[in-house]
Amino acid sequence: MNFEKNHVANAYARFPVNFISGKGAVLTDTEGKKYVDFVSGIAVCSLGHCEETVVEAIKSQAETLMHVSNLYWNGPQLELAEMLCSHSFGDRVFFCNSGAEAVEAAIKLARRRGHLKKGPDCHEIVCLEGSFHGRTLTALSATGQPVYQNGFQPLTSRFTHIPPDDTAALELAVGPRTAAVMLEPILGEGGVRPLSGDFLAAARKLCDRFEAVLIFDEVQVGMGRTGSLFAYEQTPVVPDVMCLAKALANGFPIGAVVATEAAMEFLPPGTHASTFGGNPLACAAATAVLKVMTAEGFLGKVGKLGDRLRQGLEDIAGRYPDVVLECRGAGLIQAMELKVAVPDLAMQLLDDGFLVLLGHGRILRLLPPFTITEEQISSLLAALEKRIAVIKPEL
Ligand SMILES: *Cc1c(COP(=O)(O)O)cnc(C)c1O
Repeated sequence: MNFEKNHVANAYARFPVNFISGKGAVLTDTEGKKYVDFVSGIAVCSLGHCEETVVEAIKSQAETLMHVSNLYWNGPQLELAEMLCSHSFGDRVFFCNSGAEAVEAAIKLARRRGHLKKGPDCHEIVCLEGSFHGRTLTALSATGQPVYQNGFQPLTSRFTHIPPDDTAALELAVGPRTAAVMLEPILGEGGVRPLSGDFLAAARKLCDRFEAVLIFDEVQVGMGRTGSLFAYEQTPVVPDVMCLAKALANGFPIGAVVATEAAMEFLPPGTHASTFGGNPLACAAATAVLKVMTAEGFLGKVGKLGDRLRQGLEDIAGRYPDVVLECRGAGLIQAMELKVAVPDLAMQLLDDGFLVLLGHGRILRLLPPFTITEEQISSLLAALEKRIAVIKPEL
């Protein structure tokens, strides 16, 4: 296949591969070559490609009703909201179509709440250096990575970025003008960095003290990825607002903001809206996902497979201490950080038949579907070790 000449915007650096089908953890390209997927469309197809019950839900909803405006009620939206709330701290859900939109809605909620509850100056939002919250202009302003922001200034104002796990910096940043603290409980795109329980507890305490909302961006780590349905369940704190997207409908576009009644109260009619948000088709797909994920024993498997993957990565790290810096993660979001940049590593593993993510040329991020098998994990680890074995350590 020739990818040189085409009419698609050149906004992505892409691997030279074109996939035509997928089943479970295996993808097939136009040449008929098969790959084991440790990316899942970046934490999207967590139940595996073309999972049967999700396919069935989409088919049957498409034949019944695909879209109605939010001027009216629809059953699938009511059902999904009820399921999300009964399995979380939430009382109400605002639906949209992507992670950035969920972040955007959470920020609007926090700002409006700050204005009305505390006064017109209370619009500051504290985020983390190295965080990732999406690419719309305001989600980008929240994102703590200047590389993504360069060229797009002026950004939305009043976002402060502090180093992850720096409680002293957090105490200095949060005050009477703070509308929200927004955190990924594990920084995903920023290199799989779990935040400490102490830091999260400090954030909760400061938000309570200054009447700010605590927002968890669980767009990447939510929906079972860490081994519990939501990542906050494995921390000592409960947020007021949580952003979801990626795996929520296993590949069908959807985003959601889950919030307490006291927080969602600040988005009354007329304050925010989305044409497609919460349409019956997307909600039917997401409801099918939640039914699978909340079935007895299902998520326990994620923890076990995650432990297997982690142990394998740690074993490699132990054998190549000059090349591997450390391993980090929880459940089936795992990373191996190298001491040296090997920008070709993802391409090498693609040749070997594996899809992986590589950040900054040094951070290997693995996000396999939950249907990955022990054998598939072992085969990736074997291929990875062969590639690691020939990396020259930095002298
Ligand atoms: C991917 C991601 C987003 C943005 O989601 P989009 O659907 O690409 O807009 C936001 N927050 C986090 C933590 C993410 O990983």
